Amino acid sequence: MPIDATQAYDDQNIFAKILRGEIPATRLYDDDYAIAFPDIAPQAPTHILVIPKGAYVSWDDFSARASDAEIAGFVRAVGTVARDAGLVAPGYRLLANTGHDSHQEVPHLHVHIFAGRALGPMLA
Ligand code: 5GP
Repeated sequence: MPIDATQAYDDQNIFAKILRGEIPATRLYDDDYAIAFPDIAPQAPTHILVIPKGAYVSWDDFSARASDAEIAGFVRAVGTVARDAGLVAPGYRLLANTGHDSHQEVPHLHVHIFAGRALGPMLA
């Protein structure tokens, strides 16, 4: 079910549980600001999720409330994950769904990294 991006942060969401180690996920990256792990239902040969360590519902919540250090740290982490995975030369796509119409399902900000095949023109 898509979420309402204006909702308050719910610390029982699945990515909060992954952050706390209550649900297993293979950490491809972990620093002060972000972790990355493979999507459980990949939609491309490479499908990685990068999430901030802070409690933010969506891109909107993050851009409004996060500190400059958190924003810089998270953006750097997304780029580093993709670079370290060797995705720069072949190319990759970033996606951050926000709220109902985008079909955001998990109410903790996440950026999808898609790669590993020609992804075609962007869907709108
Ligand atoms: P959204 O639609 O919210 O942008 O994307 C949520 C993503 O989280 C989906 O691609 C879904 O497959 C992934 N996902 C949901 N639950 C889990 C989980 O428990 N572990 C992992 N690794 N990914 C999950």
